[in-house]
Amino acid sequence: MLPHILPKENFDDFVAWLMTQGRVAAPVAKAPNFSFDVLVDKDDIARIRMDYDVTILPPKKYLLPSYETLLDFNGPAPENVRAEIDARPTVLLGVHPYDLHGLQTTVAAFSQDPADASVLARRKATRVIGLNIASYANDEQFMADMGTVDPPDGVADLFLTDIGDRYFVEIGTEAGSEMRRACDCFRPAGPEDHRARQEYDERKAANFKKRLPYHVRYLPELLEASYDSLLWDAVARRCFSCGTCTNVCPTCYCFDVHDNLNIDAASGVRERMWDSCQLEVFAEVAGGENFREQTASRLRHRMFRKGKYILERTGKPGCVGCGRCSVHCVANISILEAFQQIAGEAAEMHAT
Ligand code: SF4
Ligand code: SF4
Repeated sequence: MLPHILPKENFDDFVAWLMTQGRVAAPVAKAPNFSFDVLVDKDDIARIRMDYDVTILPPKKYLLPSYETLLDFNGPAPENVRAEIDARPTVLLGVHPYDLHGLQTTVAAFSQDPADASVLARRKATRVIGLNIASYANDEQFMADMGTVDPPDGVADLFLTDIGDRYFVEIGTEAGSEMRRACDCFRPAGPEDHRARQEYDERKAANFKKRLPYHVRYLPELLEASYDSLLWDAVARRCFSCGTCTNVCPTCYCFDVHDNLNIDAASGVRERMWDSCQLEVFAEVAGGENFREQTASRLRHRMFRKGKYILERTGKPGCVGCGRCSVHCVANISILEAFQQIAGEAAEMHAT
C-alpha cells in the first residue's frame, strides 16, 4: 500500500476523527516526563505531545492493565461464573518503534497455550498508530542493539514519520488502509515527500550507534556463561527489590491472581494485577519455600528473562532496549551496563 501524507494542519481533525472510532490514548506531558493518557474530549487534543522522548509506562498498560477483574462468580457451579472482559475499541496514537516491539512481545506471550482471552480481545479491539524516532532519548537506551529502532511488521496500522510540516504515513495493515480511506485528512505522497522520508532515514542511521560491545545474537549465550558470575552479587548489593524496573518494562508480563470473596463466602470476583519477579515473595510457594530468596538470584533472573528466556519462549525480544528500567531505578542499576559487562565476565569465567 502506497504511503500517504498527513499535513500537520490536519492533525487535530485526524485525532478528532480517531476519537469517533474509540477511546484514544496518546502521549501527553506529565512533568518532567511523558505518559500515555486517554483523551477525555476534543480540548484534550491540544495536550498531545508527538515530540515526546519516552513515556514513564509503555502503552502495554492498555492490553494488560495493572489491575483488572477477570470474572465474577456466585457459587462454584460453572453457570454462576461469568467472565468479565473489558475490551473497548481503543486507538494507541504515537507509539514509538521499541514500544511496538513491546506490544508484539506481550501479545506473543499471551497467545501461547493457554491463550489469554482478555489480552487478546483487547488487542483485537485496538488500533495502533506508530511514530518514528530519529535518535536516542537518553544514554540508557540501546534499541540499535536490540533491533527495535524500526517498527515490526504488522503491529502498527499506520506509521507516522515527522518530515517537517507533515507526517509521512506508511500503511501497515488492512485496518490502516481502511482508516486512510475513511478519514479525509490524507493525500498521496509525492516525490518531495519520499525524498524527505529518505533523508529522515539517513539521519536516523547516523544517530543510532550500537552500545553493546558484541552482537545481540550472542546475548543469550553470554548470559548463560555468566550465570555464576560475582557480577550479580555485586549489582544486587545496591538493589532494593522494589520492582520498579519490571513495572515500567514494555515486555514484563508477570501477574498475580486473587479471589476476592464477599461476606457470604460464596460469591466474589477474581482479580488480576501486575506482579514483579524482583519482589521477595514472588517465588515463594506453599510451605514457605522460596526459589529465589536472594536479591542476586532475583536480579539475575530478570536479566535472564530480558536477554534470554522471553526470546526463547516467544521468539520476540524480551528487552527492547527502551532504557526505562535503568532510568527509573532508584539504585541506578543499569541493564545496559550489566549487558555490557557480561562479555568480560563470560570471558573470565571461561578462562578459569
Ligand atoms: S528498580 Fe532497581 S532497585 Fe528496584 S528492583 Fe529494580 S533493579 Fe532493584
Ligand atoms: S528490560 Fe529495561 S531496557 Fe529492556 S525493555 Fe524492559 S524496561 Fe526497557
